Amino acid sequence: MSIFNFSAGPAMLPRVVLEQAQAELLDWHGSGMSVMEMSHRGGEFQQIIDEAIADLRELMAIPDNYQVLFMQGGGQGQFSAVPLNLIGRTGRADYVNTGHWSTLAVKEAARYGEAREVCSSAGDAFHGIPDRSGWELDPRAAYVHYTPNETVNGVEFQDIPDVGAVPLVADMSSNILSREVDVSRFGLIYASAQKNIGPSGVTVVIVRDDLLDHALPITPITLQYRKYADAGSLFNTPSTYGIYLAGLVFKWLKQQGGVAGIEQLNKAKADLLYRYLDDCGGFYFAPVEASARSRMNVVFRLRDESLNADFLAQSKAAGLLQLKGHKVVGGMRASIYNPMPLAGVEALVAFMRDFAQRRG
Ligand code: PMP
Repeated sequence: MSIFNFSAGPAMLPRVVLEQAQAELLDWHGSGMSVMEMSHRGGEFQQIIDEAIADLRELMAIPDNYQVLFMQGGGQGQFSAVPLNLIGRTGRADYVNTGHWSTLAVKEAARYGEAREVCSSAGDAFHGIPDRSGWELDPRAAYVHYTPNETVNGVEFQDIPDVGAVPLVADMSSNILSREVDVSRFGLIYASAQKNIGPSGVTVVIVRDDLLDHALPITPITLQYRKYADAGSLFNTPSTYGIYLAGLVFKWLKQQGGVAGIEQLNKAKADLLYRYLDDCGGFYFAPVEASARSRMNVVFRLRDESLNADFLAQSKAAGLLQLKGHKVVGGMRASIYNPMPLAGVEALVAFMRDFAQRRG
């Protein structure tokens, strides 16, 4: 039986990447060492991190005036690092609230300055994205923060919002590398790795050069972007094995036709699942507005929620793992990041159709 893992993160990785890591586990390229045993200051690891950064730059077409940093602390670490490094420019920042993670981001930023929610879809149970025309942006804000893909709520921006001259900061934890983006539209992009990049423990930060030197004096040294930029991400010991695996994932992605290639697949996967949800006759439904539906995290519910436990048990028995929705929204969620093949979504739809026929 094929197993398909729909976890929201840590999430499935391409099998070929895991096989390569397995083959190289004890002896990386004849070095006589596992990557886990190498000094982060040695030539071998330098080659690994240099290639990972070069491949990410190529995949996202990152302009030269942006730094690529590998940090730690995850997405939530950046909820602190972003205001600590940037809010000092003017003392205030604007936050767009479209779900669970943006709510936590603005709450954390308010500890370091005047962080203001410029719009929120909380009143709509985070089922949509507030219309851009209603955002009350402050031209004196140090930055505007938003969450292009809300992993828990299954809400995704289809376009990059225009916020004028104020630097745009994006938490791309759950949709980085899944669709083409123009990096030059952003002041800063960050992403925890455990969805589209690799194992947890690595945080990618892509930051424009002019934003490196505004850290508040209280900023912990391990969160200062300038330190990481100057040290080529080797300020202290990074997650060496995580960076190695991220590098393998980047090489895999290049073989899939890069971001443009995987975007077509991601679109096909999401379309297949949403089409079934819309056409299934109401046994299941997708609560998110059609214009804001995430390609990465497909949130759905059963009309009769008393069947939830049975649905989860039977799907698991059928090899379809980790479909339970996040506890704050309930229901179901199929996370279909880059490594999920179309066959996984086809298997899910076939199971759902069969379950609905038996229990409907
Ligand atoms: N932002 C988003 C969009 C996320 O999906 C997550 C984690 N699922 C986080 C932030 C928090 O990431 P971490 O657990 O790495 O702190």
